[in-house]
Amino acid sequence: MSRQSRYHPRIAILGGGFTGAAIAWNLAEAGVDADVTVIEPQPELGRGLAYSTREPAHRINVPASQMSLRPEAPADFINWLDHNGLIEDADLARDGEVFVQRGLSGRYVAEHLTPYLRDGSLTHQRARLMNVTATRGFDPTLRLSLSNGGSELADILVVATGNPLPEIPAQLQPLIGSNALILDPFSPARLETIGVNERVLIVGSGLTSADVVATLDRQGHRGQILALARHGQRSQPYGGTALASGVDFTNPVPRTALTLLRTVRRAVQDAEIRGENWQSVFNLLRRQGQQIWAALDMTERARFNRHLKVYWDAHRHRVAPQVARIIAARTAEGTLAYVAARLSRVAEDVEGVHVGFRGRGEALERLVMRSTASSSRPARPMPAPSTSTGGRRRWRTLA
Ligand SMILES: Cc1cc2nc3c(=O)[nH]c(=O)nc-3n(C[C@H](O)[C@H](O)[C@H](O)COP(=O)(O)OP(=O)(O)OC[C@H]3O[C@@H](n4cnc5c(N)ncnc54)[C@H](O)[C@@H]3O)c2cc1C
Repeated sequence: MSRQSRYHPRIAILGGGFTGAAIAWNLAEAGVDADVTVIEPQPELGRGLAYSTREPAHRINVPASQMSLRPEAPADFINWLDHNGLIEDADLARDGEVFVQRGLSGRYVAEHLTPYLRDGSLTHQRARLMNVTATRGFDPTLRLSLSNGGSELADILVVATGNPLPEIPAQLQPLIGSNALILDPFSPARLETIGVNERVLIVGSGLTSADVVATLDRQGHRGQILALARHGQRSQPYGGTALASGVDFTNPVPRTALTLLRTVRRAVQDAEIRGENWQSVFNLLRRQGQQIWAALDMTERARFNRHLKVYWDAHRHRVAPQVARIIAARTAEGTLAYVAARLSRVAEDVEGVHVGFRGRGEALERLVMRSTASSSRPARPMPAPSTSTGGRRRWRTLA
């Protein structure tokens, strides 16, 4: 028998979030002749960071019609939700698209894998990878050392470990160990310690900050929330699934980040003239994203990452309509504000936490105080951001 006909590879998939689980499921579905092991510390495969949440206010941020595990059957997730009676009125957007609680997406993927885990087509090693060594020789093999003391041999290693967690901004270091600093925004136990009238500073204004606002609001929090990010770009709301008409970003495909920017700006202006929204332009950009990215050389990709990624992220990763409504309501009532600013210094004393930050183009620093997590003070109106550009350092207290 030839070596090739005997080939029965051992495939180790590192990380069992959506990506790792989807790869494992596709291998099992296709009946690939291999030993497939997913190495993932979480008890269920398919959940990962995004879909482990049990918080009802956390919703998928793209319609369920676009979150199928089966690319050839886009309605698979919707059908699964429907079959299990999991779609409620509150899940429906105005255009009829469905935005369910995010944990359901994890359950959907986990349920798809269960039969293959039961019949042994797939194995789940509940552990973290600690170390990898490669054997030398004719048939090189990887030896994976795991946190549960076990090890796995693999011929092929698929790395699906998601994005690394962000580093704590250096300015927040003085708060490490303080009750007032919540480093895990997905920890229900930590968020529940926030009093209903406490002032909260969220560092960052992307989807995770939207999750935090939605959770606090559901918990009955009515205090002031300030979301601060250097660029001040916040995740934009869902705006339908339509594609901009008469636009093709691949013909000709932009070869520089600047041309891409100009092309997109023009497409947005043209779309608005036609009565279409900017979201339709970004829907098309997402559809054609791979070809656009492939046409940029490494220098232009680096330029994109340096100057445009923050805008891309804010417009491409959108907030579910239900969450967008909460954000709009809190902003209108004056208990939520987004500020383009850079943290400058943070300190804690008996009064609470003092946070200084510098607005974009401003020499002024402001001071915010957040009382310690156990106390609860009456809400006060949030002062409008200062426009002073005075050269002297002044401190202002939003407390
Ligand atoms: C808050 C949030 C909400 C999101 N909402 C949506 C949404 O609604 N719709 C959408 O399409 N996308 C959403 N996304 C994007 C989402 O991250 C991707 O869709 C997808 O879930 C990414 O999956 P992943 O498997 O690549 O990464 P992850 O989900 O991060 O999974 C990586 C896995 O690797 C494991 N791992 C890491 N290191 C090791 C190690 N050393 N050993 C073993 N295992 C390890 C981790 O435990 C983790 O389970 C969201 C993302 C976030 C953060």
